[in-house]
Amino acid sequence: MTSSAARARTAVITGASSGIGAAAALRLAEEGFDVVLGARRVERLEQVAAECGGRPVQLDVTDSDSVDRFAAAIDSVDVLINNAGVAVGLEPVAELTDAGVEKVWQTNVMGLIRVTQALLPRLESGGNGHIVNVGSVAGFETYPGGAGYTASKHAVRAITRTLRMELVGKPIRITEIAPGHVETEFAVTRFGGDDQRAKRVYEGFTPLRPADVADCVAWAVTRPPNVNIDEIVVRPLAQATATLIARKEDS
Ligand code: NAP
Repeated sequence: MTSSAARARTAVITGASSGIGAAAALRLAEEGFDVVLGARRVERLEQVAAECGGRPVQLDVTDSDSVDRFAAAIDSVDVLINNAGVAVGLEPVAELTDAGVEKVWQTNVMGLIRVTQALLPRLESGGNGHIVNVGSVAGFETYPGGAGYTASKHAVRAITRTLRMELVGKPIRITEIAPGHVETEFAVTRFGGDDQRAKRVYEGFTPLRPADVADCVAWAVTRPPNVNIDEIVVRPLAQATATLIARKEDS
């Protein structure tokens, strides 16, 4: 039997078909992890998996059956990166739609809970488990038009902090990584495919790259087993808060 010390650790990453999740898959593979990649767009997953030698498995975190199939396709898991996430629009609370809010909550909150529940027993039995929840500065700040998303990321933060307490004494570390603006497909999705509107989010300053966040993930999961990095907040230098950004046209 292969001991856990002799085999490579396995990292399971949700939302690995683009952005931060894809960058984390590439980086963790470089660090020697076996990588399992989950997301809905299988072709995109396969491209990332081919680049990092990982295994693509289709996953829709909003669908319990899909989460069950995903979990059944995985042998062992040492590190779970709960990264799949979306935002829908920038409407004020007065104009939020049930459909938009439900999509965000089903993905960012219920999805994270479903995948965590499905993999928690194996994270524990492996003897050196680690859950990394990709939150956001929207988990402790708010901004007008952001309620559907910021409320979901506040929930991610609450779940992470609760799990930290529930897991104490067990061999499972837990970390929240809370980024500011990262240039990914996130804003394009948020604005329903409006590339021009998405581009304006990152105009006039240098945002984080997905690899910058992957760097934080890699650092957190490669600390010695007695070290728990509770949280990492990482922002572009030009971004002091969710809304205070030094754009070039401002100076
Ligand atoms: P992205 O490029 O749009 O990536 C989002 C990922 O989530 C994609 O791989 C997408 O894959 C996956 N996903 C969405 N819905 C899913 C579902 N129902 N089931 C499974 N996977 C799903 O955006 P990103 O910036 O890398 O976002 C990753 C995480 O970072 C999110 O949790 C986001 O809230 C967080 N974040 C982003 C920023 C930012 O500025 N970009 C800042 C702070 C935090 P499929 O569409 O193929 O399913």
